[in-house]
Amino acid sequence: MRLILLGPPGAGKGTQAQRLVERHGIPQLSTGDMLRAAVANGTEIGKRAKAIMDAGQLVSDAIVNQIVSDRIDEADCRKGFILDGFPRTVAQAEALTEMLAQKGQKLDAVIELKVDEAALVERMKKRVADTVAAGGSVRGDDNPESFAKRLDEYRQKTAPLSAYYRETGELVTIDGMQDMDTVTAEIEEILAKAN
Ligand code: AMP
Repeated sequence: MRLILLGPPGAGKGTQAQRLVERHGIPQLSTGDMLRAAVANGTEIGKRAKAIMDAGQLVSDAIVNQIVSDRIDEADCRKGFILDGFPRTVAQAEALTEMLAQKGQKLDAVIELKVDEAALVERMKKRVADTVAAGGSVRGDDNPESFAKRLDEYRQKTAPLSAYYRETGELVTIDGMQDMDTVTAEIEEILAKAN
């Protein structure tokens, strides 16, 4: 099963993706996680991406498209994958359509989590508090300024993807303000229909 989780930062994509990983045994491909790993490992891509990420801006399409294309070719993606945080621009969505076609693959579902934007900043603050309480390190872009920029980038560059996938007939929208278990149950219902 190949699916995309769409939604603004803090919508719960990561949490839902982790649940799907456990239930379906397919990997979560989070371009944010992959880029953070590149930064932590000090790779060439990481060095180029760090300042952009910390400022809450988007890394170039060319970089993320290549990262995703390479990752999809790995053995653990043979049964499918969950894309979390990719695509984030219409150009990335077009590149994904093309790369999947080249690999003889297609998407099963594009699930959008719709959330009330006013609640997102509170969710970000809670995530920071939970991380600190658990002794973890806080993301460089989980601060009010970068978060506002991330939301802005989302509105301008990622929100148009809803129209893109509505047009292809693949988009399904879920109310992401419901409790996490209800959102999970609705995602499972969609996937059951898609199979
Ligand atoms: P995330 O963990 O998905 O919130 O991503 C954190 C940051 O990584 C974003 O604010 C961007 O700087 C970068 N990033 C992640 N995915 C992408 C993408 N698909 N396109 C461009 N930049 C991305």
